[in-house]
Amino acid sequence: MEKGLVFNVERGSSEDGPGIRTVVFLKGCALRCKWCANPESQSRKPEILYIANVCVHCGECVHVCPQNAISLREGYGYITDSGRCTLCQECIRHCYISARKLQGVEYTPEELVAELRKDEAFFRQSGGGVTFSGGEPLLQADFVCRTAELLHEHGIPSLVETCGYASSEAVQKAAGVVDAFFYDYKHPDPEIHRQLTGQDNVQILENLRWLMKNFPGELSVRYPYIPGCNDSQEAIRGFLHFMSQQERRVEIVFLPYHRLGLPKYIGLGREYAMGDRKSLKREALEHIRGWAADYGLEIVIQ
Ligand code: SF4
Ligand code: SF4
Repeated sequence: MEKGLVFNVERGSSEDGPGIRTVVFLKGCALRCKWCANPESQSRKPEILYIANVCVHCGECVHVCPQNAISLREGYGYITDSGRCTLCQECIRHCYISARKLQGVEYTPEELVAELRKDEAFFRQSGGGVTFSGGEPLLQADFVCRTAELLHEHGIPSLVETCGYASSEAVQKAAGVVDAFFYDYKHPDPEIHRQLTGQDNVQILENLRWLMKNFPGELSVRYPYIPGCNDSQEAIRGFLHFMSQQERRVEIVFLPYHRLGLPKYIGLGREYAMGDRKSLKREALEHIRGWAADYGLEIVIQ
């Protein structure tokens, strides 16, 4: 069994499935959504994240880096050139204020389960469990499935949050092991989907249709509502029409755009493609309820 590459294990979440969840964020995604809130998840390789609002500008990391990989970039801070960085972590060891973090640590399924079992009591009391997120967890489907199997042996349920851009084998294998899916739907038009995310939606919709027909567990389909990208009436009605055509009724959730990923773009020295668009409140999406009713659907605005 290959090891899995994980960039964060976050405890105590109440938004990533039922009950109290521990969320495992896996590294690597084939999509490049303009609004992605986890840019540190996208690369399949470990990398150094710089945390600008913690840094005290001592410059120590620049001096200790044996590869001369760190430079002070205006508007960003002490940014690492990933082409030069060998991940020796010397800069992390010398940053006494912890403004540098390694994103991407390898675990075996057994090592990860041992970590996750520390929260077993919370899962039992709250009806919670483990959520695999990312990145795209199904790019590491063998690792996720083996970890979910081991969790099951301890009575811990699991959920996969997916963008759906994974092989049908990966999706179907996970469907045989995990208890629930949160599944993203970003735009009904394949070409616009490609412009927004880097890939069209053909495989994503094929996998979703398969799950709607064959997966017996909880399935929640989630539409990130992104101003200027997929907030038109035509796009949203296209999505609602697709959902109304499926035999099964599942939860439909709309997620208002937020800017929480911005500091991480700065920390990676990357430009934020959403510019200065403001975060949205739930109320900004209320009008969609009426459109959903036209298709006999109810929605949740999270
Ligand atoms: S990242 Fe850490 S070591 Fe580098 S300048 Fe900031 S505080 Fe100093
Ligand atoms: S991990 Fe090592 S090579 Fe990479 S930036 Fe830090 S000190 Fe330099």
